[in-house]
Amino acid sequence: MFEWSEEDVMVRDAVRGFIDKEVRPNLEGLESGSLPPYDILRKMLATFGMDSMNAESLEKELAAEEAGEPRSSGGGSNSLANSMFLILNMEMAGVSLGLIASMGVSLGLTVSTIRSRGTLAQKRRWLPELVTMEKVGAWAITEPDSGSDALGGMKTTVRRDGDDYILNGNKTFITNGPYADTMVVFAKLDEGDGTPMRDRKVLTFVLDKGMEGLTQGKPFKKMGMMSSPTGELFFDNVRVGRDRLLGETEETGSDKRGGDSAKAGFTAERIGIAALSLGIINECQRLSIDYAKTRTLWGQEIGKFQLIQLKLAEMEIARLNVQNMLFVAMEAAKAGKPPTLAQASAMKLYSSRAATEVAMEAVQLFGGNGYMAEYRVEQLARDAKSLMIYAGSNEIQVTHVAKGLLAQ
Ligand SMILES: Cc1cc2nc3c(=O)[nH]c(=O)nc-3n(C[C@H](O)[C@H](O)[C@H](O)COP(=O)(O)OP(=O)(O)OC[C@H]3O[C@@H](n4cnc5c(N)ncnc54)[C@H](O)[C@@H]3O)c2cc1C
Repeated sequence: MFEWSEEDVMVRDAVRGFIDKEVRPNLEGLESGSLPPYDILRKMLATFGMDSMNAESLEKELAAEEAGEPRSSGGGSNSLANSMFLILNMEMAGVSLGLIASMGVSLGLTVSTIRSRGTLAQKRRWLPELVTMEKVGAWAITEPDSGSDALGGMKTTVRRDGDDYILNGNKTFITNGPYADTMVVFAKLDEGDGTPMRDRKVLTFVLDKGMEGLTQGKPFKKMGMMSSPTGELFFDNVRVGRDRLLGETEETGSDKRGGDSAKAGFTAERIGIAALSLGIINECQRLSIDYAKTRTLWGQEIGKFQLIQLKLAEMEIARLNVQNMLFVAMEAAKAGKPPTLAQASAMKLYSSRAATEVAMEAVQLFGGNGYMAEYRVEQLARDAKSLMIYAGSNEIQVTHVAKGLLAQ
């Protein structure tokens, strides 16, 4: 694969049509945080038939499981082979990265965790409304004192109380946290036997909005991605039944660090970041070329100045590199050989850095206008920076790339 297919281009144009009609007119509300993203996302899923597609494929999967066929592993590289999904992500990221981040956490992380680790009854209980985004999902692992060291440093605790558990602690930086209806929450099991915190089992629970003792904080003010509400969750003696423990046993409910399903999820997420980065690079380049051809100084277009040409050329190099990485990954997934975690980490590291550099250079190319919100590149630069922090910070990606190399 070396270019998008004709069908891909048709999908892309349809997505652009949706963005022009439904997203751009609402950008001010979305990017000030005054308009939550969920109604627009629901409309987008309905417009492209993704809500019914998701519901049908879920129903098929659950019916097969009821009939005793093997369980889905959830997450993984399937989304890579689906170019429609990547194009949607890419195009939305060029306009409002937060929108697609909110959708990714709800439809991606939250759904795939319940799908891969829940019992049939748990899937029937939570997934049908999540896969259509009728309900909004959040996925909560990060805490104030443990970010990159999420599992080891976790302090949120559950202790057994008869057949139930009592949950205490708090989570931070949780995408959709302020509005979520369904929350996947990770907590350490306190067995009262003095096991050091780092060595305790991590269990995963599903909570619903409105449970006693659960508080969802207000959206944080952020540097960018204001269209994605991010906030804290607080747990004050929240009573959770065993039916909320994923898998309903402490064995299947515990987090399998480094397990195949977790690795496939991380790999897909990191490649997804490359698609988001490409969307930002494409949009910055498009806006920059347009500006270079129309802004006139010293009697000529600024595109005639070599230093401006250098910026455009470097944007093109970044675009080609990120796009080629993505094409190779898609092709490899179709051939049944999806990228390894180390390769996906290298893609995430490179593409998020490239998107941030391109967006900052776009601001520079626009001069004073670049610093003004009206010209949009300043928002893209603020949004792009976030890609270097979540889905594993870029410093953590370095460790994964190196681990892969040193294991050869
Ligand atoms: C917009 C946004 C949305 C988010 N959404 C969610 C969400 O939905 N759910 C969720 O659970 N979390 C979410 N997060 C949290 C995100 O996953 C963390 O911010 C990220 O993992 C980094 O953790 P930290 O912020 O605590 O930084 P820290 O871990 O404190 O890192 C501080 C610095 O140290 C570096 N560092 C850490 N460890 C190493 C090491 N071993 N070697 C070298 N350098 C290192 C980091 O790269 C960073 O530069 C979100 C964050 C943001 C910004």
